[in-house]
Amino acid sequence: MKKNLLGYTLSQMTEEFVSLGQTKYRAKQVYTWVYQKHVLSFAEMTDISKDFRAKLEAEYCLDLPKIHTRQDASDGTIKLLVEMEDGAKVETVLMPYNYGDAICVSSQVGCNMGCAFCASGLHRRTRNLTAAEMMGEVLVMNELLAEWGRHVTHIVVMGTGEPFDNYDNVMSFIKAANDQFGLAIGARHITVSTCGLVDGIRKYGHEGIQINLAISLHAPSDQIRNQIMPISKAYPMDQLMEAVKDYEDNAGRRVTFEYILLAGLNDSLACADELADLIHHYGIFAYVNLIPYNEVVEKPFKRSSNNAIKAFADRLMKRGINTTVRKEFGGDIDAACGQLRSKVITGEGQ
Ligand code: SAH
Repeated sequence: MKKNLLGYTLSQMTEEFVSLGQTKYRAKQVYTWVYQKHVLSFAEMTDISKDFRAKLEAEYCLDLPKIHTRQDASDGTIKLLVEMEDGAKVETVLMPYNYGDAICVSSQVGCNMGCAFCASGLHRRTRNLTAAEMMGEVLVMNELLAEWGRHVTHIVVMGTGEPFDNYDNVMSFIKAANDQFGLAIGARHITVSTCGLVDGIRKYGHEGIQINLAISLHAPSDQIRNQIMPISKAYPMDQLMEAVKDYEDNAGRRVTFEYILLAGLNDSLACADELADLIHHYGIFAYVNLIPYNEVVEKPFKRSSNNAIKAFADRLMKRGINTTVRKEFGGDIDAACGQLRSKVITGEGQ
């Protein structure tokens, strides 16, 4: 099988081409063609020798996933179900913020984390996505945006899958996206979201790039977190908070805690106080991003009322915590994480 060069970091590609007897500069040329000139055919890379182009053609490819389903929402959100070479399908979503175009990238095919509220976990992980496939999600979206003279400016790895359960591929993809000869997306415009894999958080703190980290917390205590996130049994709250604190100290970056408000479960003012106490207790300077729950038919959870969301946010702010409520996109399409994929693959009887 041909190796897909999308998603190679520049240093991986340089190493690969040098091992084939090429100069170091060759990888930079290919990078520039792909990411800056949007050329995905080796034949058109005219400043590279014919011999090496033939070699590239024979042993490598720059294949993108195919679009299986496309849903456009009235607010400009685009949700795609993209299909990989082996038929695996993942969701990828474009959210048009006023500050830019943010893409939500899936990192695995299905997910094993088993969060009780999430539609992605309805289907277990069948495999990890490669760095090339994650880059493919972005490039496919860029091809659609080009019609309006736009391109992806922000990346959140918050689609289906747990990025720290596919650590190396996710990091290669991010490095290629961030590279000045790659997509040149600033590190501060890239966010990775984890359900709380402590080993991954610790490793991420030492990567030396300024990418953002978001933690799906969703509860102020183990008692509530254990009911909705099985991962909290492997990594209880005290271990998670210590890892976050160490991350902040090592990386010099503030984390964001994501917190879905689920009616009657974690949305009381007592929970807001407990959350503020928890964050203060560990001396963490986090942001909290409150997420209105996107209801999933297969799940029993209900979205908190707008009043409850506002009251929760106000209480956190009064307690000195920098709090935002997540803007919602795609209300008229299958917007909840994993919903479109679940519908399609269940319909196909997989
Ligand atoms: N596994 C990673 C990234 C994927 S989930 C993580 O857990 O962070 C991305 C975010 O969407 C998480 O915060 C997740 O808890 C949240 N989420 C999942 N299902 C949701 C739903 N139905 N409504 C709102 N947010 C949801």
